[in-house]
Amino acid sequence: MSYRADIAIIGAGVIGLAIASHVTRAGREVYVLEKNKTFGQEQSSRNSEIIHAGIYYEKDSLKAKTCLEGNSLLYQLCERNGIAYKKCGKIIVATSDIEAEELEKLFDRGKDNGVPLKMLSRGEMNRLEPNMKGLAAFFSPTTGIVDSYSLMRYFLGKAKENGTQVVFKTEVTGIEKVSGGYEVSVDDPSGGFSFMTRVLVNCAGLYSDKVAEMAGINIDEAKHNLHWCKGEYYSVSGGKNRLINRLIYPVPMTISVGVHVCFDVNWRLRLGPLFYYVDEISYKVDDSRKEAFLESSIVKALPLIEPSDLDPESAGIMAMLQGEGEGFRDFVIKHEYDRGLPGFINLVGIDTPGLTSSPAIARYVSHLVNEILESEK
Ligand SMILES: Cc1cc2nc3c(=O)[nH]c(=O)nc-3n(C[C@H](O)[C@H](O)[C@H](O)COP(=O)(O)OP(=O)(O)OC[C@H]3O[C@@H](n4cnc5c(N)ncnc54)[C@H](O)[C@@H]3O)c2cc1C
Repeated sequence: MSYRADIAIIGAGVIGLAIASHVTRAGREVYVLEKNKTFGQEQSSRNSEIIHAGIYYEKDSLKAKTCLEGNSLLYQLCERNGIAYKKCGKIIVATSDIEAEELEKLFDRGKDNGVPLKMLSRGEMNRLEPNMKGLAAFFSPTTGIVDSYSLMRYFLGKAKENGTQVVFKTEVTGIEKVSGGYEVSVDDPSGGFSFMTRVLVNCAGLYSDKVAEMAGINIDEAKHNLHWCKGEYYSVSGGKNRLINRLIYPVPMTISVGVHVCFDVNWRLRLGPLFYYVDEISYKVDDSRKEAFLESSIVKALPLIEPSDLDPESAGIMAMLQGEGEGFRDFVIKHEYDRGLPGFINLVGIDTPGLTSSPAIARYVSHLVNEILESEK
């Protein structure tokens, strides 16, 4: 055991990188360990890139709080550091009476969470989106889009500038609690090694339940088992991107926010994600689900999109605490001292809106890290 770190972060997705950019400072040895050959190859580069406003989540949950805070921090970060973004706003539209009832509940929930929202009249709906059909809709002005790759590059650059070592092709395979911290074993191209760290932060995304288990947490008892949920996207051709002016979402009738209009910062148009639970990691789009896509509410709301405009494009897989048919589960972001693991900070189930929440989660975790390191002085 030759190295001794102050802080080791497992995972170089947007969450691990955001945290690294925040906790690194003079006099601290900080490492980020990533099993892939570069950063952000999993959830953080396979998502809708939406800066969420905070509408959907239970009041006072970590999701609601970090999303609202992250939303405003993210716009500031993008503006100050040349990260591409668009504060284009979004419309949530109901296409049936049942959806219209749910739309009102969603509007109230968003308002209650402190999100600025505006109910639209028929005239306003037509003026804002002449090609959209719907019975009722509201507008969220603080929803936007961010270039997730540039955001991660920014966090990585800031972390490195402040002295963090980011090591790729390095997979954490074992964690042992020892006096004064943790002994972490890794596999790397040289065959592997182990080192000691005072603080260990689990940001392992799809595998964060396995990492929690490695640290000694009984994940069944803690209810930290993850479910993998695959979301598929279809590209939309035929110049239809010029006929839609902002993000358009359906009323969520299941656990997911529903197949929606996704634009990237270059105004490339996609529809998705259509979510379903999976047991293995494969990013191939299952084209047999195109029928389900065509039946989604968003296609009803946008009759200008024809079946021939849609082509399978990409997929992402999300690490979710809620299994099929289960209700809302919040992010787990916790210093696990009460499980006998002082210095182990555990992040499990950082599903959507994790990209939006990343700067706020980084602040929160940085506060936990400072408490731990200060208490040892
Ligand atoms: C389809 C989809 C759509 C989404 N849309 C949005 C959206 O529009 N807006 C939004 O805010 N959020 C969205 N999200 C959620 C967002 O993408 C995630 O919350 C966020 O990317 C999570 O980041 P992460 O760093 O925790 O995980 P990841 O990006 O998965 O990173 C975890 C990293 O840990 C590494 N790792 C795992 N195990 C080990 C190990 N043992 N040793 C070393 N490294 C390890 C992995 O290789 C990986 O690089 C979406 C997610 C998906 C899948």
